[in-house]
This record gives sequence, C-alpha cells and structure tokens, in this order.
Amino acid sequence: MIILKHALANAHRYSKADFKAVAAKVFAEDPESRKNAKKIIPEIKNVVADVNKMTKEEITAKLEEIAPELLHRKKKDENKELPPLEGAENGKVRLRLPPEPNGYLHIGHALSFWLNYLYAKRYEGKLIMKLEDTNPTGEKKEYYDAILRDTKWIGIKWNELFILSEKMNEIEKAAEDLINFEKAYVCKCPEEKVRDRRMKLEADPCRTHNKQENRRLWREMFAGNKYTLRWKGDPAAKNSVMRDPTLYRVINKEHPHTKINHIAYPTYDLASAFTDGLLGITHVLRSEEFLMRAELHKAIIESLGMTAPNYVHFGRFDMEGSPTSKRFIKELIINGEVEGWDDPRLATIMALKRKGIVPKTFEDLAKTTGTRGGRRMISNKLLHGFNKKNIDPIAKRIFVITEPVELELKGEEMIVEMRSHPIQELGTREVSLGKRVFIEKDDYKESLLRLKGAYNIEIKGKTAHYAGSELIRPIVQWLSDPIDGILWRPGTVMKTKVSVDNKKPEPITEQDKDIGKNQVLVERGSFKEGEIVQMERIGFARIDSVKPLRLIYISN
Ligand SMILES: [Zn+2]
Repeated sequence: MIILKHALANAHRYSKADFKAVAAKVFAEDPESRKNAKKIIPEIKNVVADVNKMTKEEITAKLEEIAPELLHRKKKDENKELPPLEGAENGKVRLRLPPEPNGYLHIGHALSFWLNYLYAKRYEGKLIMKLEDTNPTGEKKEYYDAILRDTKWIGIKWNELFILSEKMNEIEKAAEDLINFEKAYVCKCPEEKVRDRRMKLEADPCRTHNKQENRRLWREMFAGNKYTLRWKGDPAAKNSVMRDPTLYRVINKEHPHTKINHIAYPTYDLASAFTDGLLGITHVLRSEEFLMRAELHKAIIESLGMTAPNYVHFGRFDMEGSPTSKRFIKELIINGEVEGWDDPRLATIMALKRKGIVPKTFEDLAKTTGTRGGRRMISNKLLHGFNKKNIDPIAKRIFVITEPVELELKGEEMIVEMRSHPIQELGTREVSLGKRVFIEKDDYKESLLRLKGAYNIEIKGKTAHYAGSELIRPIVQWLSDPIDGILWRPGTVMKTKVSVDNKKPEPITEQDKDIGKNQVLVERGSFKEGEIVQMERIGFARIDSVKPLRLIYISN
C-alpha cells in the first residue's frame, strides 16, 4: 500500500511515476524496508509500471480512495512564483524602494522591499533606493543611516541611491512647469477653508489666477508667504485625492540632509511622482493605501511629458501582536512599555533581528504573501515557521537550564564531547560533568534518567547515582559547571488583532505583556553576539549580549 500510494501521488503530480522518486519516498516513510531492498525494489518497479498504464482519471480516483492527503497536498513554497509584472521587459524594468527617513523600517517595508527586489532580479532590472525626504519636519540623520543599514541587512542590494532632497532644484522646476502648463495654481486660502470646500465639492476661487499671477504668488511663497501650490484637478472628483491636492507648501525649515533652508517644500505627491518619472521607474509596487493616489501621480508625471509607471498595489502587511505605525511605536517607547525601537516585542527590522529572525525569512515571507490585495496579518506562526527552517541548520546546540535543581553526583567525573549539531557539521563541544549536576526542575523526580551524552543516573533525594549506560529515556540536558545568563522571552505588546488604520491597537493585559527575563544556567562556551543557538529541549535563542550573557528566546 505504501508503494502504491507513492507511485500514484508521483504519477498524479508529474503525469508519469518515476521509479527512483517513488523508491525514495517509500524508504523515507519506512526506513526498515531498506533492509529488504532486494525484495522491495522489483515490487516498486512493478507497481510503477502498473500505475503508468492507468489513465489520469483512474490515478486521481485511486489516490482519492487510498491516500487523499497526497492528492490535496500543496506544492512546496519554494515553487511558488510571483505573478508576472504587466508590461515588464527583461533588462528594462526599473523599480524603487521609497522609504521616508522619518522612522525605522518595519516588517511591512521588509516585505515590500523584498517584492521589489525579487522582481528586479527576475527581470534583470534595476532597483533604486529612493529616499523620499522632502518633509524636513520629521526626518533625521539617524533614520537615513538606519534605513540603509537595515535594508542591506535583510539581504537587499540596490543599484542606485537617489535622495530627493538633493534634487530640490529639479522638483521646483517641475512645479514651475506645472504652473506654466496651467496644471497648478497658487492658493491663498487658509487650510480650514480649503478643507471645507473639498468636502462640499466646491471650486476654489484661486483657480482663476492667471499664469502671471501664479508665477508672482509662487515667488512670494519662497519669501515666506504661507500660500500653497495646488494641482488643478477636479473639485467635484469622486476620488477625493483629485480635488486640487497640495503640491507645495511653506515650511521654512533647514533640511536635515542638505542643510539648506528651502522655505517651501514639495508634498509627497509631487516629489514622489515627479522623481518616479525622472528616474524612469517602470513599475511602482506598493501597498493599497496608495491606491487612490495613483490617478494623481500618473497625471503629474504625464503632464510633465514623462511616461508614468505601471502601478501595482498589494495588501498592507500587519504583524500579529505588534503595531507598525510609527506613532504607536513612539507612544509605547515614551510610555516606557518597550525599551526602544529595537525592543524584541516590536515589528521593526531592528527588533526582529534581535528576536532572531534571519534575512532569508523575509524573502520567504515575501514570496508567500506575494502581491495579492487585501490586508494581511503576518502571524507569528508563519514568521517563525519560515524562520525555524532557516536557523535550524546554523544553530549550535547548547544546554540551558531554566529552573535548576542541584544534585550531588555519585558517578564518574568526565569531559563529555558532543556534536554541536545532530546533522550539520558544526563541530563538537566539551561539557564537563563533575561532582554536582544541575537538571531542570521538571525533570527532577526519584527515578532513572539519562544525562545526555554521558550516562544514566538514579535520583534519590538530592543525590544522583550512576545507573549504567544503556540508552534509556528520558534523556535530559544537564550542567555541572554552568555560567549565569538571562533568558528573555519577549511577549507581545498588542492584542492579536492589530486594529485598522488610525485606531490605536488595544494593549494586552499586564500579565500577558512580557513573559519576562529570567536567570538561567548556560553551558560554558564561547558565544558571539548575534549568534543563534538551540537550547536543547527548550527552543532557539539569539545571543543578545555576551557580557553579561543575555539570550533572547526565538521559538521552539
Ligand atoms: Zn484658494
């Protein structure tokens, strides 16, 4: 039956069953059968031959009957391909990563950046790191550095670096062109008035300014007059973005990057759209929150005689249990609920790195989530599912005891040499077994157990007696000569459902907030900061600091 089901499944998937593939599956499921290979191999050959005589329908029907789980099995994630980009030509695709340096990158950026990077590679195109820094009020030097650092860290390589604030003359010139083309006008009205008219779908009286007047008022803006330059859209447009949006406004502040005080600064809409056109971006891949703006951005670019990119909008990414909004994160920091932007309970890239998420995991997640629409919650299960596959092969095994019970050991003192990884070649380690031994409180009872890598003991009271060496269970981790460490199991800061848009997510109850930092005993060894280890029988952890030794729990 094992042979038949694998032969059917293989035939179902690849239209013909392959003897080698089927044999591999059979031996994997039943390793004992290898011993009878001489007898089983001809059997497999016969079954494969029979199955290959069956029709597609017969194969499906039979498989449905004997092993439906193989019929409905999903293809592996690695095989998943992103959908093609409309109008993409090999070698000509130009994509961009457009962060604003007014905060740290989070998981949403990481996935969106990875999607762009995957497409750039797929079409042998160019990827541009485009820092959209034309609002000098929130931008800071530390964010510029962090954005570049974190983007590199998640594994992304860009081809060009483009900083908008260095192109202010070009952006100003584009605004002047729009005035000359009568696509923009200077509005002298106060903000409330503008908002009010927008709501009532009323036309602004400033729309009647002629070119000369607009040019004069435009110059006055740069003398500090608090006017705005507005797109001449449609005051009654269904898409509210098109109701004469602002393109330029007076901020009168020195720019943190260029150190130039420009007085008037372009809005995101003008600066981002114009420079997308200037850079010849072919595809803008971004989340659905920008959906309404595409019409405006396209109109701006085309009015300036350039070709607008294709806009692809995908669902926004949220992280289970953690806000991604800068405002909410700042609030948590100010209120002292988290320790900083890299607190492992947060969803910033810095925080996820500290929590032991590795770069490959972001790539895997991006491939899985793809460019589908609709808001997506990245669950911890999904995140850690991918991450575990990536860290398991590199994580050295160590002994850690979270709640120690100390026993006197009546047995041989020895240096136990153990593999650092059961399968991978990560070398060996030496753990010394002495006159005393610590075991986990949960393992402590008056019975027999095996000290992993050493021998069996029988526990009587607080004494452990040598009890032979034949393999018995349970097999437990132990330490005789440990070092002290702190194990931090970061909780979450928010209830599972992060609420939509501008509503503040509800904090979770006090006791769920953080499982806390506990004193633990750790195997003596040489650790490196950032190293990922597996604490045997407990789970994976990242070495957060060496002195003092602090581990951050990742997952089990
Ligand atoms: Zn006006």
